[in-house]
Order: sequence, then structure tokens, then C-alpha cells
Amino acid sequence: MIKLTMNELHYEYDIRGLLMSFYPGVEIECNSECNKEVEAEINLVIDYETDKITVTLNSEQEVLNCFWEDAKNELKRCVYRLLSKRENGRVLPWGTLTGIRPIKLPMALMEQGKTDEQIQNELRDTYYISKEKLDLSIKIAHTEQKLLEKIDVEDGYSLYIGIPFCPTTCLYCSFTSYPFTKYEDKIGDYLHALKKEILYTASKFKGKKLNSIYFGGGTPTTLKPEQLDWLLDLVATNFDLSDCFEWTVEGGRPDSITREKLKVMKNYPVDRISINPQTMKQETLDLIGRRHTVEQFRSAYEMAREEGYTNINMDLILGLPEETTEDVRRTMEEMKLLGPDNLTIHTLALKRAARLTIEKDQYAHLHFEQNTNDMMQITMDVTKEMGLEPYYLYRQKNMSGNLENIGYAKPGLEGVYNILIMEEKQSILALGAGSVTKRVEPDGRITRASNVKNIEQYMERIDEMIDRKEALWNN
Ligand code: SF4
Repeated sequence: MIKLTMNELHYEYDIRGLLMSFYPGVEIECNSECNKEVEAEINLVIDYETDKITVTLNSEQEVLNCFWEDAKNELKRCVYRLLSKRENGRVLPWGTLTGIRPIKLPMALMEQGKTDEQIQNELRDTYYISKEKLDLSIKIAHTEQKLLEKIDVEDGYSLYIGIPFCPTTCLYCSFTSYPFTKYEDKIGDYLHALKKEILYTASKFKGKKLNSIYFGGGTPTTLKPEQLDWLLDLVATNFDLSDCFEWTVEGGRPDSITREKLKVMKNYPVDRISINPQTMKQETLDLIGRRHTVEQFRSAYEMAREEGYTNINMDLILGLPEETTEDVRRTMEEMKLLGPDNLTIHTLALKRAARLTIEKDQYAHLHFEQNTNDMMQITMDVTKEMGLEPYYLYRQKNMSGNLENIGYAKPGLEGVYNILIMEEKQSILALGAGSVTKRVEPDGRITRASNVKNIEQYMERIDEMIDRKEALWNN
């Protein structure tokens, strides 16, 4: 238990984020008044006064001579120093940075005309980011900047379509996902509601340039071949695809992929698909509730190659229960043999909505390797050997080892939609239950309209979902 006392709950969110980075999974009790009843090993007190802030961590204290209104980064650095000292000099790879889009920082500085060296110095001094992560961020920012040149920021947009059904629910899942067999009789109605949203969007954005399409979820390939065909046809006939340079369909779960579905998608300009193993260790797949085999994954991939797919992504997760560094090494050796065009390396993030968190007592016996840094290094080395380059990166709260997710690709085969969702450089029209539409203004201002997550609610309130989009664009 960590006890955090702040006489003003100012920057509470940021301080909490920093504490969570140092002590993932540890409960934090936050009060604006000192609660003497709470026994805590770590006791952090932040006392705001008009012109100074006193920060006390157990017996250590620092006083910041600044106005608390604009002290965020200074305060975070101070808390970081005290925590690091308490932990015998332990440092975090991303320093005080708790945000999920770290590449936005070097990108913004590059847009101001700063050199790589100036960017390095500024980010190191402000956030205490390690040299390794700074080099990686700046490299990715350059790649992204180049890839975003083909995006029409003012007149273009991207389209996301969410299919919130999966064969089963993975143990770590926090997405909007419903087991296919349980919801099978509702899928027709869901697609019907989705059609309304698709037709509204196609007509509202007529004359604008559709740059990229992403079918995600959930697992879109959970749909039956005829449903998938119907949906692809609906999009292809109602949107002008002449400016669309990328159409991704997530076939995330290998057990949802069949030759028939692969052939259906080939009838449309779908040029990028995902087939995700997460790990090549069968015991782990069984443990995390994926209910597919390593063999099923291999044959889905082989089938996709036979059907002519030349841009295939695979997702892996580091830090899965009971997985060791050696398991990751073996998985990466398999990746090398298979040779995907994109490889996205995630580190496990335990979200509140995941079964692994909700039913944590049931899984208390599982071992989670905390030293995901070594695992990450293996993936970095092997992707390099495979000729893949890092092209996008993001972070989540409660990530194992406080690391990041990195997308790698063969040069020229990067998933530009992934960059758009992270860097927020273009509006994304998101349709389907649980999706969030983002309107990005040319000056960078962002406004959002969310769809409800519950599919029954989504179907019932589809007109309201459309009205929300209408209101977002008419403001
Ligand atoms: S495949 Fe993805 S969306 Fe589906 S249950 Fe697993 S983590 Fe969730």
C-alpha cells in the first residue's frame, strides 16, 4: 500500500501515474488530508503553498521554490528523485513520462525545427528519459514524419470499423469483445445497426479523401464468410477508395481464419492483415484462454501467403504468465523463420477490465516475469536481424517493466493507420460498439465522440450514436 497525501489534489493523476510506474500493481490510497489510520510502507506527502511545494517521502524531503500552478514537470522530477533514491538508484526507462504517446514529444520539437541533439537534451532534462529510449523515440519520430507526408491532414480522414466478437475472451483482454458463440444470434442485428452508421458516414464525408481503413475489434474474421463479404462490399460500394492507400483487416485470432474468408477479403482491396500468435508456446496459449494451437497459427499464416497476402502483421506479448526470457527467444526464432512483414511487440498491461485483474485471486499462483527489459532486448535484436524497422510506439498504464509497445515493419510496409491513431494527425471516423471517433483540426485541436460499448445498447441507440457524430462535426 502507498499512502499519498496532497493538501490540494493538483497533478494527482500524474503523481499517481509515476507511483504506478515505480510500483506496478501496488494499491495507492490518496487523501487530501493526512489519514493517520492508514499504515503504509511508502508515505508521500505533497504540500502546496503559494510559492513553494514541499515533497516528503518517508524521511526524505525536498522543497521546490515554484508556483504550484505550473510546477507539473518539476514536481514529477522531484518525486522521481526521491523514489529513485529510496529504491537504491533505480531508474525508469521512460523517466517521469507517464503519457501513452511519447513520440508526440520529439515530433512536436522536430516540427519546431529543433535538431536531434537539442531534442535529446530537452527531453532528457525535462523527463529524465534514458538515452536508449530517446534514441528510439527520435528514430521513430523521423520515420513517422516521413510516412505522414502522404496523409491529407485537412481534407482526408481514416475509417475504423469495430467488430466486437472473438472466438473466446483472452485472459488479459480489456477491449470491447463478446464471445462469438454466445452472441451469434445477435450478429445480424449488430451488422444492421453498423450499416446505418456506415451509410451515414459515407454520405457525410462524400467529397473528402478516405486515406486508410482499419477493421478491428474484437476479431473481424470471426464473422462468417458471407457476413464478411457483405460488410466489405458495403464499405467498398459506398466509399470512394481512390485515395485509400491502406485497408487492414485484423484476423487476430488464427482460429477465426479460413481459406474461404481469405479469398473473400482478396476480392476487395484489403492489403494488410494481422494474424496474431501472441506467443509460440502452447502452454501459454492454453493458460491465457486463446483456445488455438501453435499449429493452427502456422497453417493460417501459410494459407494467407498462399492466397497472396504480402503484408501480414503478427502481434506478440511480452510478460505473459509463466513465460521466461527463453520462451521469448524461442518465439522470436520462430518469427525469424516465418518472416512476417510487420511485427508488433506488446508488453503485458494489466487493465482493470481484464479477467486477469478482476479474478486476480484465481490467478495469484501464476508467475509474471518482471524483467521484461531482457525480453524486449531480444525482440529488438531479432527484428533487426529480420530486416524490420521500428515505426510506431505507444505506452499503456501498468505495463510490465514500465516499457512500451513497438510496431516493426519491413520498410515500405508500415501500417500507417497505427501511426494515425497514436499521433492524432488526422480525423478517424470510428464505427461500431465501443469505438471512439476523433476529429482532428488542422491546428491540432482534438474533439471526440464515443459509441457505447454494450452491443445491445449500441443497436438500440444507433441513431443517438449517429447524432453524436453529427454534433461533433457541426460544432
Ligand atoms: S483476440 Fe483481442 S479482442 Fe479478442 S478477446 Fe483476445 S485480446 Fe480481446
